[in-house]
Amino acid sequence: MLSLTVTKKRNIFEKISKEDVYKNLLDIFGSHYVSDKDVDLYPYSYDMTECEPHMPDFVVIPQNIEQLVELVKFCNANLIPIVPYISGNNVGGLTIPEQGGIIVDFGKKMNKILHVNENMMYAILEPGVTFGQLKKYLDENYPTLRYSYPMAPPYAGVVGNALLSGMNNLSCKIGSMGDSINGLEVITADGDIARIGSCFYGKNEADPDSWWSRYPMPDLIGLFVNWQGMTGLVTKCAVQLWPNKPIQKAFVAIAFGLTDIADLLREVGRSEIADDMSYFNIAAAKLTMGIEHPRQFPEEPEFLVIIPISAKTEEMFEAKKNILFNIIAELNIKGNNLIIADFDEFSRLAGLKYRCIYDLPAVVIPTVLKSGITWFGSYCPTHKFEELIEKVDEIFRKYDYHSPIIYGKIMKYAHYGIFRPILPYNKFTEEEKVHQILEEMTDFCLSLGCIPYKTPNWMTEKMRKKINPGWIKLFEKIKSCMDPNNIFNPGRWNL
Ligand SMILES: Cc1cc2nc3c(=O)[nH]c(=O)nc-3n(C[C@H](O)[C@H](O)[C@H](O)COP(=O)(O)OP(=O)(O)OC[C@H]3O[C@@H](n4cnc5c(N)ncnc54)[C@H](O)[C@@H]3O)c2cc1C
Repeated sequence: MLSLTVTKKRNIFEKISKEDVYKNLLDIFGSHYVSDKDVDLYPYSYDMTECEPHMPDFVVIPQNIEQLVELVKFCNANLIPIVPYISGNNVGGLTIPEQGGIIVDFGKKMNKILHVNENMMYAILEPGVTFGQLKKYLDENYPTLRYSYPMAPPYAGVVGNALLSGMNNLSCKIGSMGDSINGLEVITADGDIARIGSCFYGKNEADPDSWWSRYPMPDLIGLFVNWQGMTGLVTKCAVQLWPNKPIQKAFVAIAFGLTDIADLLREVGRSEIADDMSYFNIAAAKLTMGIEHPRQFPEEPEFLVIIPISAKTEEMFEAKKNILFNIIAELNIKGNNLIIADFDEFSRLAGLKYRCIYDLPAVVIPTVLKSGITWFGSYCPTHKFEELIEKVDEIFRKYDYHSPIIYGKIMKYAHYGIFRPILPYNKFTEEEKVHQILEEMTDFCLSLGCIPYKTPNWMTEKMRKKINPGWIKLFEKIKSCMDPNNIFNPGRWNL
C-alpha cells in the first residue's frame, strides 16, 4: 500500500469485531458485492484534492433499498461509519472515509432512471445516475426536455451534484441545483424509509407521477441538501427538467479590463435573457488549447464569458440578442472594454477544443491536465466580484502559479454569484504550495462573505470561527437528532 494512505486512528470495532462486520455484510450483499481487500478499497481512500487520504474498511455495492435498510440498522446498532459514494468527484474530499468504515458505492448498480414525467418536467433517479447517462437518455427518449449540466465529467453523479447545490449550465435562470429537487426517498438512522415532497402521499409506495413539487409542506428536503451524506441515505431523487428550446445559440463576451466582466455579469444576468453566464480568465482559455504554462501578454483580454441563449422562436431569440448587444454597447460607453462574438465562430477560429466548455457534459480540458485539482468554490455576493477577482489574481501572480484558473457564474438572474479559483496541480510534488495558496485565498474570500460549497474540513474549520453560535448550535442539534450514533459520513464539518 502507498504510504500516502493511512487510516485515522479510531477503533470503530469496539462493539463488534471486524470479522463479524464482514460476515454480516456478506449476508446482506452477497460475496460479489462486498470487499475488504486493499486493492478494492484503495481507490476510495483519496480524491483529486489535497485532502488527507484514509482507507475505508469495506466497500459494498448495494442493488436495492432492502439491503440498505438492513445495512443502516446494523451500522446504527454497532456504531460503524457509512460513507455514501457515487463517483467521488465532489472536489472537497467529501467521500474520503475520515474514520474508516463502509463505503456504500451507489454508482455501480443503483443507477437507474426510474421515471420521466414529460408534462410536469421531472425525472426520478437512483443516486448513481450520471450526467452522461441522463443526457443520452433524454436526447433519445425525451428530446423536448433537458437537464442543467456542470463542468464536471460526464461520469459524475446527477443526484450528488443536486444534493451539494451544484451550479450548472442553466443556473443563470434556475439558480442552485439544490432548488431543482422536487422530492427524495431517504433511509434515516433507525432504518425508516421516508418520502419527502409531494410524493409523500401513499403508505408504502408513491405514484411516480406525484413527485412534482417540494412545497407547500415543511421543507424536510433541506435536511439532506448540503449535508454531505451526514443525515441519511438518499435512495431516490426527483429533479426538475427544462424545455429543450428549438433555438439555442451561445455568444462569447471578451473582456479586456481585469474586472470588466463584473458589470457585464450583473447587467446581463438581471436582464433575464441568458440561460447561463460562465466566466473564466484568459489563462483558463489558454490551458484549454493545451498551453501548459500560460503567460499573459500586454493588451491581451483578461476574461471570457460564455453566454448561451435559448428561445422558442426566431423573434424571441432576436429580441434577447438585441438586449445583450445593447447592454454591451452601454457598458462600453461607460468605460468597459468588451467585445461580443458568436461562440460557434469563435470556437472555429480559436480552436474546437473550446467547445468542451459549452457542449456539456464533457471532460473540460484544463481540469484534467494534472494529477490533482482543487479549488475555492464559493457562492458569493455579486457586488464583491471586483475585489475578489483583483485579489485572487494578485495571489496567483505572487506565487507565480503556473495554471491560474478563475472561473465562476452569475446565478438566478443575478441574485447571487459563483466565484471559483481553480488550481490544477501535481499531486506528488505541489501539494504544500497549493495548500498555502488556497489557504490565503480562502481567508480573503471568507472575509468578503463568500460561502464555500462542497467544503472540505479544513475550510469548515475556518468557517465555524465566523458563523454565529446560534447557527452552529442548531446545526449540531439537527445532526445529533438525525444521526444520534454519528454513523453517516462522520467527521464532516468538523463534527
Ligand atoms: C473537473 C470537475 C469540474 C466540476 N465542475 C463542476 C461545476 O461546474 N459545477 C458543479 O456544481 N460541480 C462541479 N463539479 C463537482 C461535481 O459536479 C459534483 O460534486 C458531483 O456531480 C457530485 O457527484 P459525485 O458522483 O462526484 O458524488 P460524490 O462525490 O460521490 O458524493 C457527493 C456527496 O454526496 C454524498 N452522497 C452520495 N450519495 C449519497 C446518497 N445516496 N445519499 C446521501 N448522500 C450521498 C457523498 O457522501 C458526498 O458527500 C466538478 C467536479 C470536477 C471533478
